[in-house]
Amino acid sequence: MFNSTLKQLSTLLAQKKLSSVELTQSCLDRIKRLDPGLNAFLTVDAEKSLAQARVADTQITSGRAQPLTGIPVALKDIFCAKGWRTTCGSKMLANFVSPYDAHVVERLNAAGAVILGKTNMDEFAMGSSSETGFFGPVRNPWDRSRVAGGSSGGSAAAVAARMAPAAIGTDTGGSIRQPAALSGICGLKPTYGVVSRYGMVAFASSLDQGGPMAKSAEDLALMLNAMAGFDARDSTSLERPAEDFTTRLLDKPATADRARPLAGLRIGVPKEYFGDGLASDVAAAVDAALVQLEKLGALRVAISLPNSGLSVPAYYVIAPAEASSNLSRFDGVRYGYRAAEYADLADMYAKSRAQGFGAEVKRRILIGTYVLSHGYYDAYYLKAQKIRRLIAQDFAEAYRNCDLIAGPTSPSVAFALGAMSSDPVQMYLNDIYTTAANLAGLPALSIPCGFGEGGMPVGLQLVGDYFAEARMLGAAHQYQLATDWHLRQPAGTE
Ligand code: GLN
Repeated sequence: MFNSTLKQLSTLLAQKKLSSVELTQSCLDRIKRLDPGLNAFLTVDAEKSLAQARVADTQITSGRAQPLTGIPVALKDIFCAKGWRTTCGSKMLANFVSPYDAHVVERLNAAGAVILGKTNMDEFAMGSSSETGFFGPVRNPWDRSRVAGGSSGGSAAAVAARMAPAAIGTDTGGSIRQPAALSGICGLKPTYGVVSRYGMVAFASSLDQGGPMAKSAEDLALMLNAMAGFDARDSTSLERPAEDFTTRLLDKPATADRARPLAGLRIGVPKEYFGDGLASDVAAAVDAALVQLEKLGALRVAISLPNSGLSVPAYYVIAPAEASSNLSRFDGVRYGYRAAEYADLADMYAKSRAQGFGAEVKRRILIGTYVLSHGYYDAYYLKAQKIRRLIAQDFAEAYRNCDLIAGPTSPSVAFALGAMSSDPVQMYLNDIYTTAANLAGLPALSIPCGFGEGGMPVGLQLVGDYFAEARMLGAAHQYQLATDWHLRQPAGTE
């Protein structure tokens, strides 16, 4: 049952071979058994989850089931959920219980999903390893001495260890795709604006985007169907007709040549994504995946994204700039932590923030404040914004010759816990292949495509043009019909 797809679970629920209460209880049992070794969950509330499952069961009985009705879903602890503690991985919000639901949570609730718990993450989603959080690191289910990736590492580990059938995360510079890759699962960052940011604790608002994490492309599509939609409370939410993201998941393509279901699809392979810095085991697995896509009929096109090397530097100016502004709200007055002792108001702000934020968050606030300061704004922030435009133009140029872009998600497989903690710049370089999609606002996903050093999973990234989610999911689905990397489960999580 734990390897079942969402569709299979939904069928079992509809046929009354399984109730949502039974399914939810068994996930809770697995969390109890497996999570002490993984630290993927920050909050589990069996009573709340089971109450939702009971409601789902009555909906199923009365014939009002939707595709996700009764399915347990884990939420990254950046999403506000009414009555649930929402910490964002920080001491600053360690005791914050949200009085309201994020738009995505409202949507999942309306779809009948059951909230299974809140997952661990890097503090305020700042990191690539899920080690910067106040509640300790997430461990990788494939090797507990390694990181699960970040910042949505708890959601990735929860799905990888089959504690949750699906989860949601957020991706500001790769935080859905990179942990998905490092933990051997699938993750999708939608086009900016497709999923509302309302109720998602803000990190860098022009880059943040929520998205699904699950075992297969098909599951991602079902999750995104529930998550996407216009929301007037997010000023950057896109108002467009509802889209069914499952439309291109053809199990039996109606093409003349069924052996070549991807015939006609042009896959651009950027030369910049296969240069120095890419580990050879990752390169080999990604290359094999490209060969597989060609076997399915796709045409491989050599392309160039000339400004790729500037995406990490531009991202690490823009994201901290926005973070320094967004995080000014945590002042010890309105939300969260307040220092126990202080001399006056200014001292209360200073001490609350000094004690409530961890080192990485402080580093970002300092960098962000610096690049926005009067003397340096033109040299850093404005320059980064210009580079951002050039990066978006690179993609626009590339999509004249290809339909999707493929490459590695991350330059290496999951690294050892602590290996990069003392070297922030090295840590930032993990985001070399992921940040560009955020800077350009493009949709991108990661799916498992093999194993590398130490038997650790490798992720294949697909980046699409705006609103190409269904096309990307369709291609990923064909790849998953022909391969079984996404079905592999870490040893010790049976
Ligand atoms: N690793 C990147 C960072 O630290 C991306 C994080 C994210 O996508 N939330 O900022």
